Amino acid sequence: MDPENIEKEAIREAGEILKAGGLVAFPTETVYGLGGNALDEKAAEKIYEAKGRPSDNPLIIHIAELSALDKIVTEVPENARKLAKKYWPGPLTMIFHKSSCVPYGTTGGLETVAVRMPNHPVALELIRAGGGYVAAPSANTSGRPSPTCSSHVEEDLTGRIDRILDGGPVGIGLESTIVDFTEEVPTILRPGYINQEMLEAVIGPIRMDRGLISADSDVKPKAPGMKYRHYAPKADLLVVEGSPEKVQEKIRKLAKEKVQEGFQVGIIATDESADCYPLGLVKSIGTRKDEESIARHLFGVLREFDDCGVSFIYSEAFDTPQMGQAIMNRLLKAAGQQKIQV
Ligand code: AMP
Ligand code: MG
Repeated sequence: MDPENIEKEAIREAGEILKAGGLVAFPTETVYGLGGNALDEKAAEKIYEAKGRPSDNPLIIHIAELSALDKIVTEVPENARKLAKKYWPGPLTMIFHKSSCVPYGTTGGLETVAVRMPNHPVALELIRAGGGYVAAPSANTSGRPSPTCSSHVEEDLTGRIDRILDGGPVGIGLESTIVDFTEEVPTILRPGYINQEMLEAVIGPIRMDRGLISADSDVKPKAPGMKYRHYAPKADLLVVEGSPEKVQEKIRKLAKEKVQEGFQVGIIATDESADCYPLGLVKSIGTRKDEESIARHLFGVLREFDDCGVSFIYSEAFDTPQMGQAIMNRLLKAAGQQKIQV
């Protein structure tokens, strides 16, 4: 479906599926979502089942109108309203105290609820057609990289859901930024396209969840989903940080060792560095001149390596200016936090 030219009949049908308690995968600007009626406990259950997702990992409720917010939360702090005004529709999720109409099945048993208004015409029309409240985690099998095009959804969920709306490849490619408004100081639980600086420009100081930045692995992230390894590649993934020359030198050395031992090796490089690696299967993730290209291709590249049977993957680090924190958060999760500094 062309997002600029919505097929009304397809949306209406998909909306009926949602209203009847079924599941519809749909494009958003971040990644593809797997939607079910957020106010229907049984639909939430089906989402967990289709994804194989642990049921303590709460779902984000997607809305299409700001006025829909009041029904599902007890209170919206002034600063949250400011962020909504600036960044909704957009890649920002906010957490509030839930009202009684939100089932615990949707919130993983929590008293709080995560809400977002996505910036994608297909998503917005589907939410309206489906009754206004769509619970939608990423439309992947739990543990695999989030889907950034409809073929990823097909790969993971064919036969397990009722419909996929194909709106082409997504724009951003990383999941939304999550800000928790149930803490005394608003707190980022998951970094995304909208970074700390962009949030603080609107509402002043906010905090980063200690579980995200602490080197101490005993400090657990507050968002239940952030404690899971997002992606367990068949291959062993290691991230190498440092100056470009040193990183390239180290990856060449590591790749050579493994190739000599008889292993197949994958390398995640950029357009600028791809030619610097004579050994291994080299994939460029994008160009360092455009960090959005790196974010957009990250999950897809991880999926590609899964399909080609390498035993070890070495990746450059991507500490880019705006989205570096989000990109590195996802990459290190995929790597099970394995990184070295050179
Ligand atoms: P996904 O739906 O795949 O984008 O993942 C949703 C993320 O939001 C997971 O990391 C969840 O743990 C997190 N989340 C959703 N609701 C809440 C909540 N009420 N409190 C804290 N984290 C939440
Ligand atoms: Mg997910």
